[in-house]
Amino acid sequence: MKRLIIPLLAPLALLATAATSVSAEELNLYSARHYQTDEALYANFTKQTGIRINRIEAKEDELLERIRNEGAASPADIFITVDAARLAKADELGLFAPVKSKVLESRIPANLRSADWFAFSTRARVIIHNKDAVKSADVQDYEDLAKPAMKGKVCMRSGSHPYNLSLMSALIAHLGEQKAEEWAKGVVANFARAPKGGDTDQIKAVAAGECGVAVSNTYYLARLMRSDKPEDRKVMEKIAIVWPNQKSFGAHINISGGGMLKTAQHKEAAVKFLEYLASDEAQGYFADGNNEWPVVSSVAAKNPALEAMGKFRADALPVATLAKNTAIAQKVYDRAGWR
Ligand code: FE
Repeated sequence: MKRLIIPLLAPLALLATAATSVSAEELNLYSARHYQTDEALYANFTKQTGIRINRIEAKEDELLERIRNEGAASPADIFITVDAARLAKADELGLFAPVKSKVLESRIPANLRSADWFAFSTRARVIIHNKDAVKSADVQDYEDLAKPAMKGKVCMRSGSHPYNLSLMSALIAHLGEQKAEEWAKGVVANFARAPKGGDTDQIKAVAAGECGVAVSNTYYLARLMRSDKPEDRKVMEKIAIVWPNQKSFGAHINISGGGMLKTAQHKEAAVKFLEYLASDEAQGYFADGNNEWPVVSSVAAKNPALEAMGKFRADALPVATLAKNTAIAQKVYDRAGWR
């Protein structure tokens, strides 16, 4: 059946491309996001503006490499990725062009943007623990993970991963480099195993009891909560989530965001697209696509998993500061032996 449909549709698709490429403006988007809800997001933008989106999707670090390698000849207009550390890297390499936009400035909080890039959704890095092995009261703050009481209980992913680099960057900003390093050493001394795997691997290891406590980005937890697989929901039954540092600086948050590239050929369309991502309609899609929170405060995420997690106090540190501290953060982890 499928074999029959392809030859029938192919000429139509060609016709459609030919018809639109004559008159329509276009935009080349390099995106590290690949969620089904993003399809609707892009389709709506094209419907509203007539600007066609050509999308190149790849893993975060690969995209950045690609843009670097393409140099001045890069067709990319917009780069969208996750984590302030990666946006900062692109910024450091001088890939972004500054964008002045009243819309972006008024809708995106000042701590969630720089002159060159903008956050469009946020995620928190929370403490998770096995309900049977660790009490919530004992792991209220990131600092608790370094205390002797957690000896042999802590699981972590690599210290060189952007998520942990950004967390360390925040700790450096709040505690100072020396205390942050003492923290890293304390956590390393508490490792249940050498760092390995991604956030979901830490979650599963905590559920299985291999570790008592770990940290994870919230969208991985939300994904398991919303999963169709009973075994995923069982994982979540074993686990409790703690919003860290609610009595001090708040839970560490990171972002998904993007900016316009210096080499952009379609500058006007690029700014229109960034502004569109901050619109009420796009904010809901953008954030929900990866179970994140919208950055525009008037937009509520209609997402049962996020609602189930409840409200929390987020760290108000400018995400640009996270980006600035990344290089020191790596050195701190190296000195602490957090591979
Ligand atoms: Fe992730």
